[in-house]
Amino acid sequence: MCKCAWQEYFDVRSRTCGIWYKTIQPQISLRPWVDSIQMSTLYIKLAMRLRSGHILGNKFGYLMKKVESPNCRDCGVVEDIQHVVLECARNERLRLNYFKVFEYNAGQINTILAYPSSDEATMMFKLTDICLRNNVDD
Ligand SMILES: [Zn+2]
Repeated sequence: MCKCAWQEYFDVRSRTCGIWYKTIQPQISLRPWVDSIQMSTLYIKLAMRLRSGHILGNKFGYLMKKVESPNCRDCGVVEDIQHVVLECARNERLRLNYFKVFEYNAGQINTILAYPSSDEATMMFKLTDICLRNNVDD
């Protein structure tokens, strides 16, 4: 009964807040997904940030009042996960190397993140880590 009430609250609340997360995790779980997998602490952090939509890009930095603009300094568009991993010119070479293997697109990111222990998700965490380091190192 408690799970049903929680799911009902989650369904209603997700219409206005946490919409991104709802596309990744439409059903509540009684056990955290990290309980059943072996993964490095770094990738667990990246997975949680990606699944919640809170990666350390300018969009999130702007929301946290840490940077003056939510936009990518090279491309001039909002720097969210989709931009960093799939669109940013700075990461094009990295992206091409990874896409040769997985060939995923923006519409598939949340599907991949729904299965954080999959090979595709692990590769996305690795690519995101490299892209974010690439953004900081310039
Ligand atoms: Zn960019």
